[in-house]
Amino acid sequence: GQCVSVCPTGALTQVNNTTKVWEALNHKDKFVIVQTAPAVRAALGECFGDTSGKAVTGKMVAALRAMGFDKVFDTDFAADLTIMEEAAELIDRMNNGGRLPMLTSCCPAWINYFEHEFKDMLDVPSSCKSPQQMFGAIAKNYYAKKMNLNPENMVVVSVMPCLAKKYEASREEMKNDVDIVISTRELAKMIKEAGISFHSLPNEEFDSFLGESTGASVLFGVTGGVMEAALRTAYEWITGEGLENVEFSMIRGLDGIREATVQIKDREVKAAIANGLGNARILLNKIRNGEADYQIIEIMACPGGCINGGGQPYLRGDYEVLKRRAGALYEEDQNKPIRKSHENPAIIKLYEEFLDKPNSEIAHHLLHTQYFYKEIS
Ligand code: SF4
Repeated sequence: GQCVSVCPTGALTQVNNTTKVWEALNHKDKFVIVQTAPAVRAALGECFGDTSGKAVTGKMVAALRAMGFDKVFDTDFAADLTIMEEAAELIDRMNNGGRLPMLTSCCPAWINYFEHEFKDMLDVPSSCKSPQQMFGAIAKNYYAKKMNLNPENMVVVSVMPCLAKKYEASREEMKNDVDIVISTRELAKMIKEAGISFHSLPNEEFDSFLGESTGASVLFGVTGGVMEAALRTAYEWITGEGLENVEFSMIRGLDGIREATVQIKDREVKAAIANGLGNARILLNKIRNGEADYQIIEIMACPGGCINGGGQPYLRGDYEVLKRRAGALYEEDQNKPIRKSHENPAIIKLYEEFLDKPNSEIAHHLLHTQYFYKEIS
């Protein structure tokens, strides 16, 4: 897929980590927890012969529990956390003359490419770590303490639609967050290895409280979703008013570049979305040349976003499958009782008990990162 070709550390992404996960699960002293990215549930069923377009969240959770994970958690929890930090950063940049546009920073393939190609613009991406990394940081620094666990005995496993996430987890400045990353296809392989009959599984729920999430976070799996989730929260924080219609349909769709102006009270927020590297490059060059004045842009390296990640079941050229995967995520958002990240009760509690407020000193220390110019090796 696209992700492999854009990652200069391509060799790294080929490592098969399933053996490492089985070793951790069989280790009697290890407390092994797992997080699953939103796009995984939208495609995992395809590995078991399901037609595309159906999220298999409940069965996926049951399978992970049957495999022996001590806790089955959700990257969506951390996606809500990302929105708290990212929306606060956006508002801060807008109010205090900070660098605009702000670029979302959840896609490591894009960030990696950006660091090589746009070294004059390293202050453009949000300093927020991606949800995968935020999850690991909170698991080891907050959850561990709360549950009286030694973080040294904890193994954080991620199931990701993405091969570049393996590289991201190994980055020096945040390599303690996540221990092992496997792809959607690798998870399917492990479920089969364990002899689990996927279709006979009941639907189960994620464990509390790193498994609690909102509809906004589910959207991270599809192009435009991070933007939509951020706008739901930014809108309410800027206006102090409730947002009635949470669906920003003008930024949805699978076109390579999309633009919209979102009216937030007396402010116009200009937003742009690019998916696919060629489109991202066009957009970034416009910004570099002073031809665009956006406040926020979202970029995903994979056309369609993470639903089309390099670790997902193969599309085999069938573009319709992507639309159906996107539909599965929009449906999951619609069915969630809470659809705005800042209303996630577990996130509210996390700030009350530990992080204080978005962009606090401790939040900055654990949840934010830096970007560096690197030569392509
Ligand atoms: Fe990975 Fe998603 Fe980026 Fe693709 S778009 S490289 S799946 S983070």
